Amino acid sequence: MTECVFCDIIDGSIPGNVVYETEDVVAFLDANPVSRGHTLVVPKKHVEDIHGASGMEFLMDALVKVSDAVEEAFDPEGINIAQNNGEAAGQEVFHLHFHVTPIYEGDELEISYNRSELEDGSEIAEEISKYL
Ligand code: AMP
Ligand code: ZN
Repeated sequence: MTECVFCDIIDGSIPGNVVYETEDVVAFLDANPVSRGHTLVVPKKHVEDIHGASGMEFLMDALVKVSDAVEEAFDPEGINIAQNNGEAAGQEVFHLHFHVTPIYEGDELEISYNRSELEDGSEIAEEISKYL
């Protein structure tokens, strides 16, 4: 056992409902699903969050594959892909993971942000761009 529950699933020391696995990535069912088929896509290498994911292009390929499979399996009305970074953003397990969450008819989606009108776009875009 390690201090990371996802590393424990990856190394087989605790069970997980694995749906997909490659050399780099694993996908298993979320233990507390939002909906039927809620799956987590997880790099095998332990990195805490998105800031450790440079070079992990395989994650997008796995997300597409798992989303396609969930679509085929359960024919949901839609699928959300979500990924939380930091406690303030709702992250509870500090091993990078993406949620693939099917949405079915009648599901109440509870994603609510207070949106505003973008006013200082060029200044904000410039601030981000200088680090890219
Ligand atoms: P997050 O809030 O984005 O960090 O999401 C962590 C997710 O991990 C939650 O949806 C939990 O239900 C899920 N989770 C925690 N422990 C396990 C486990 N042993 N197996 C599968 N999913 C888990
Ligand atoms: Zn880990």
